[in-house]
Amino acid sequence: MSTLIKDAKVLEAGHLTLTDILIENGHIEAMGHELHTKYGAADHVICAGKHFVTPGLVDVHVHLREPGLTDKETIDTGTMAAAHGGFTTVGAMPNVEPVPDTPEKVALMVAENAQKAHVHVAQYASITKQRTSEELVDFEGVKQAGAFAVSNDGSGVQTAETMYQAMCGAAKAGLTVAAHVEDESLKGDGVMNAGPVADKLGLPGIPGISESSQIARDVLLAEASGVHYHVCHVSTAESVRVVRDAKRAGINVTCEVAPHHLLLTDEDITMDNPMLKMNPPLRSPKDRAALIAGLLDGTIDMIATDHAPHTDAQKAGSMRTAAFGITGLETAFATMYTTFVKTRILTLSQLIDLMSTKPAQLFGLHQAGQLKPGTPADLAIIDLEHQYEIKADQMFSKGHNSPFVGWQVYGDVLMTLVDGQVAYGKDQHA
Ligand SMILES: [Zn+2]
Repeated sequence: MSTLIKDAKVLEAGHLTLTDILIENGHIEAMGHELHTKYGAADHVICAGKHFVTPGLVDVHVHLREPGLTDKETIDTGTMAAAHGGFTTVGAMPNVEPVPDTPEKVALMVAENAQKAHVHVAQYASITKQRTSEELVDFEGVKQAGAFAVSNDGSGVQTAETMYQAMCGAAKAGLTVAAHVEDESLKGDGVMNAGPVADKLGLPGIPGISESSQIARDVLLAEASGVHYHVCHVSTAESVRVVRDAKRAGINVTCEVAPHHLLLTDEDITMDNPMLKMNPPLRSPKDRAALIAGLLDGTIDMIATDHAPHTDAQKAGSMRTAAFGITGLETAFATMYTTFVKTRILTLSQLIDLMSTKPAQLFGLHQAGQLKPGTPADLAIIDLEHQYEIKADQMFSKGHNSPFVGWQVYGDVLMTLVDGQVAYGKDQHA
């Protein structure tokens, strides 16, 4: 079966150029003009209407909540949200029930994902059994079973000995260690960034050093073990500085930043508001400036949403008791494009690098993050011209916990194709 996408604007050496894209059997067969003269008429034609066509976005940090927490999200709804956001590959975090901490459990999740997902799912295994004990997973085994990386996301690995042994084992198996960094002895019972805003609101704070000090420990362990060490959701100026210094020293470290840490600060928390509660928390304007500087100088390698859906009840009430986390898949591209590309802080090509090409490359997802003949037809058609309002009732995620509802943005995803098949089309409703 063949599909022709007509009048697509694609990035070519940093510039938008008009082309047609011919898809055959799920792969991009050719790009150019007058393709029918060489290839004949296609079975289907999709008119891109001179809108932007991007390689499918790649998000290495997503919580699909299945198995075990399906009141928050399922593989079905979470990957539909991904397709709606222009994502064609997502990395599924292992803080589900049961935790994928054995080859058998990983294999089961990989099979479930393949059956239920609307986009490609790369599956994480945990670093330790149950994400809590000191007992490591069988790294070779989980890799064989299909895990693409390991992470204990949601909690930091508390002892250096466990982290070092994990890194040695993961390095041997060729697995990336993606670390949620958080020293529990420094974290306390905080619910937002420690600082003047928390003091004013009378809410307990989470100090930035609970994050940065564990990165400092880990980069040295990464150097000693030779592993690819990836830091999840960096949020402080000191974290960026430690990663920058580690890269300069030649250590194999990469890191991601979440859109909300680039778009909001603790100063946006003017009252006890659970919709602005996440871990790591929104930090100070100084931290936000350092994150943007880190994006611009290449210290920060990629953007990842940390899509964390919860039920309405879990996000109601006070920040003291509500769950940590916000959704992100359906708002990431538009909020980032509007705030950073429309204002010329980033170019469109830099944003696509950060949201597609680099996460795919650095996590070894070699089929993803590209738009050229020979690659899978994973792509999204995005309207960059027309302004629209982010609305909760247009989201596919089960979680309604987004602080971006009501934002006026550009970058509306019109259609998303995965392996040449329509995974999302704008006529589809949530
Ligand atoms: Zn995390």
